[in-house]
Amino acid sequence: MDFGLSGEQRALKEAARAFAQAELAPVAARNDAEGRFPRQALNRLWELGFMGMTVPAAYGGGGLDHLSHALALEEISRADAATAVIMEVHNTVVCELISHFAAEEQKAAWLPRLCRGDLGAFALTEPLAGSDAGALRSRAEKRGHGYVLHGQKALITSAGEAALYVLFAVTNARRGRRGISAFVLDREMPGLSFGKPEEKMGIRASVTASIFLDGVHVGADRRIGQEGDGYRMALATLDAGRVGIAAQAVGVAQAALDLAVSYSKQRRQFGHPIAEFQAIQLKLADMAMQLEAARWLTYRAAWLNDQPGRHTADVSKAKLLASEVAVRCADEAVQIHGGYGYLRDYGAERLLRDARITRLYEGTSEIQRLVIAADLLRGTPGGVAAGVVTTPSG
Ligand SMILES: Cc1cc2nc3c(=O)[nH]c(=O)nc-3n(C[C@H](O)[C@H](O)[C@H](O)COP(=O)(O)OP(=O)(O)OC[C@H]3O[C@@H](n4cnc5c(N)ncnc54)[C@H](O)[C@@H]3O)c2cc1C
Repeated sequence: MDFGLSGEQRALKEAARAFAQAELAPVAARNDAEGRFPRQALNRLWELGFMGMTVPAAYGGGGLDHLSHALALEEISRADAATAVIMEVHNTVVCELISHFAAEEQKAAWLPRLCRGDLGAFALTEPLAGSDAGALRSRAEKRGHGYVLHGQKALITSAGEAALYVLFAVTNARRGRRGISAFVLDREMPGLSFGKPEEKMGIRASVTASIFLDGVHVGADRRIGQEGDGYRMALATLDAGRVGIAAQAVGVAQAALDLAVSYSKQRRQFGHPIAEFQAIQLKLADMAMQLEAARWLTYRAAWLNDQPGRHTADVSKAKLLASEVAVRCADEAVQIHGGYGYLRDYGAERLLRDARITRLYEGTSEIQRLVIAADLLRGTPGGVAAGVVTTPSG
């Protein structure tokens, strides 16, 4: 068993940290307050090779492993969780789905664009289909050699900002989940439009919006895989996506600990820095312990994603722990700041607002627990209904 990172992985993490602390951290609070999309930061991520990191080099990507991606994402998130989620969606559920499941000509058409500067979005969730992502209503009707798409997607990261959309729609309503197919859409396609960005609690610099499909014509060459393969591909790709969210959460938790340690050494009460009080030390120790556990579970899940087979339950454990730890650490950082923790200028409240989303997207904490329980109970008498526990969540 080897717990060490390779020299390249360490160097990558340090490079990501240096970039994120120098260029993302100084503007993160302002972008959050103004809800400003971090276009400039994203352009820098492309320049530095952080977009398309796991895409094979033949298509213009970095050809890196999932652990390297998690390490970079953690450092980006430590500086700015909003930029991190945009990168995470682009790199995992968009690039990976295309890399793994698209035909050769499709990969050659889309992956170089995604590695060069075209942002990607992943559109699974709908108003009536969230955790139960098999209940999609958007439909793709056969028309000539292609399809016509109608419906609505909700809560989609980067909707309107992204150039390419991996989007799921029903091609055969009688087949349930096996009747869902995946398509790749361009932003400019006639019939495709976007709602106004939602007003969010946290990660406010990222855009989250609805997508409207009003008779969007797509050729059959826009469908990834066979008809009916969409749900299976979404599930498989979410294994990488959830590791990404776990890494995002670890980054937020680390930022909370950094802030709490620094403030506790500088704030004095009763004639002493509050760091000298055991009550504060115990909080810091608990934060550090939980963060370390979450980090190693996340690194392990990332590593597992490069090993043969599916590792869905291990991924869910990492995502569940890391997201719960991020919220706890951010909450303790606010507490250690006392009343100032409640003020925008001190940074802790932004971390708490940003941390909160990690328990919700790419499968809520409840859904992660169902996935873990299903794995435990599989094959045992009275096992949990597979229909519920395999639900993917966008
Ligand atoms: C900021 C943001 C960005 C997002 N980005 C994307 C994106 O890029 N692409 C995309 O496709 N989606 C995206 N989503 C959607 C996100 O993945 C969903 O919100 C999430 O999967 C939960 O679905 P829901 O909101 O419909 O909640 P619901 O499914 O309605 O769940 C409501 C509550 O019921 C619980 N629940 C549901 N089913 C069960 C069950 N069987 N057992 C126990 N409890 C259950 C849930 O855990 C939750 O607590 C985003 C959401 C947000 C807020």
